[in-house]
Amino acid sequence: MTHALSQTVVAKFGGTSVADFDAMNHSADVVLANKQVRLVVLSASAGVTNLLVALSEGLEATERFVKLDAIRKIQYDILERLANPLVIREEIDRLLENITTLAEAASLATSNALTDELVSHGELMSTLLFVEVLRERGEEVQWFDVRKVMRTSDRFGKAEPDIAVLAELAQTHLQPRLVESLVITQGFIGSEPKGRTTTLGRGGSDYTAALLGEALHLSQVDIWTDVPGIYTTDPRVVPAAKRIDKIAFEEAAEMATFGAKVLHPATLLPAVRSEIPVFVGCSKDPAAGGTMVCGTTENPPLFRALALRRRQTLLTLHSLSMLHSRGFLAEVFTILARHNISVDLITTSEVSVAITLDTTGSTSTGDSLLTTGLLTELSSLCRVEVEENLALVALIGNELSKACGVGKEVFGVLEPFNIRMICYGASSHNLCFLVPGGEAEDVVRKLHRNLFE
Ligand code: ASP
Ligand code: MG
Repeated sequence: MTHALSQTVVAKFGGTSVADFDAMNHSADVVLANKQVRLVVLSASAGVTNLLVALSEGLEATERFVKLDAIRKIQYDILERLANPLVIREEIDRLLENITTLAEAASLATSNALTDELVSHGELMSTLLFVEVLRERGEEVQWFDVRKVMRTSDRFGKAEPDIAVLAELAQTHLQPRLVESLVITQGFIGSEPKGRTTTLGRGGSDYTAALLGEALHLSQVDIWTDVPGIYTTDPRVVPAAKRIDKIAFEEAAEMATFGAKVLHPATLLPAVRSEIPVFVGCSKDPAAGGTMVCGTTENPPLFRALALRRRQTLLTLHSLSMLHSRGFLAEVFTILARHNISVDLITTSEVSVAITLDTTGSTSTGDSLLTTGLLTELSSLCRVEVEENLALVALIGNELSKACGVGKEVFGVLEPFNIRMICYGASSHNLCFLVPGGEAEDVVRKLHRNLFE
C-alpha cells in the first residue's frame, strides 16, 4: 500500500484527547476515520506534564512520592484497560523508573537540561500507550521517537527547531515509515546536536505537528483538542462566543499570540511558510466540525475575535536623559535581549517608555521573566516602575488601522474601565490594550456583546 505524501495529513491530539483510555479511543476513532492520516503527534496525558515539571523543581521525598504516584496512576489506568497490558507494562515501568531516578536527581540539583529530560517522559508514555490502543483495534502502527528528527538548539525549556536539519532527517528517517504504516510520535520534545533531550516550550505539540507537516510536505495539519474549533472569544468567558468556520493564517496567528489558548503561538509559522492548511476540531465530537485556518478567506470581517492574556507585567522606564537623546532605547533593548526577553507591547513618550513582558510562563520551567539581575541593570540606566497582574485584551480583525471610528466603537463601551495602555497602528490585524487583571473578563464580555453579538 503506498500513499502519495502530498495527500497525507498529520493529526495532533492534545493532553485531554489522550487523558484516559476512553479519550484515547475517541482519538483512535478520529485517526481511523480518515485514511489520509498517516502521522499522529501526541501530547502527554492531561496532567502528566505539570506533575513532571513539579518533580523537576526538586521536591523532598514525601512530596515526590505523591507526584510519582499520581503519574503512575494516570498511565496505569490506561494500561490496565488494554486487553493485553503485559506487552508494554515493562516499557512503561522502565520509563516510570527513569522518572523516579531523575526526580531524585532534581531534588539534589535542578537544571534546565534535567527538566527537559524528565518532562519528555510524558509524551514517551502517552505515545506507547496509544500505539497499543490502535494495535488492539487491529491497526498496523509504528512508534517513532521524534528526537531522531526534531533537531533543536540547546535552549532547554524553549528550544528552537533547526528547520533545515529537521527536513533532512525527517525525509530520511520518517518519510519511508509513513509509506509502510501509520506512525505515532511525540509532540513537544526534541534533541540538541549532542543528543540531549530538549522541549519546545509548554503546549509545543501543536508546533511539532506543524513542523513535521512542513518538513514532510504534508497536505494538512489537524489539531484535535477539547473544543470544536476557534471561537470569537473564549466560550468559558463569553458563552455567546461563536465558532469561526474559516479564518486566515494572519488572524489566527494574532489570536494565538495574544492568548487564545486553542493553538500554540508558533504553530502557524511553518503552516504559513509552507501554506499548509490547519484544521482545529474536538476529538470527542468530530461531527461538531471545526475551524479551518488557511491562506485567504472571503470577505474578511473588520472585527474577527477577542483574545485575553492574563498575568501581564508592565515596565515603565523613566529617564530625563531620554529627552532629545539617541540610543536610550537601544540600550534598553540590549539589556532585555541579554536577559532573553522579548518585548511584547511598547509605547513611548518624551521621557519614558512603557513595555510589557508576557509572564504566562512559556518555558517548561515557567520562570518569571522579571529577575533581580534584569531590574538591577535597568535601574542603573533609568527609574523603573513595575506593575503586575494586568491583562492584555486584543481585538483581532482586518484592516483595523485603515477603518474609521474603530477607537470610538471599542473604547466608547469601555468608559467605566481604566485602560492602562493602548497599542494600535503597528499591525492592521490588532488593537491591544491593558486593563487591571480583575476587570479583564468584564471588559471582554462588554466588548464581545457590542462588536460580535
Ligand atoms: N505536554 C506538553 C505540555 O503540557 C506539550 C503539549 O501539551 O503540547 O505543555
Ligand atoms: Mg497540552
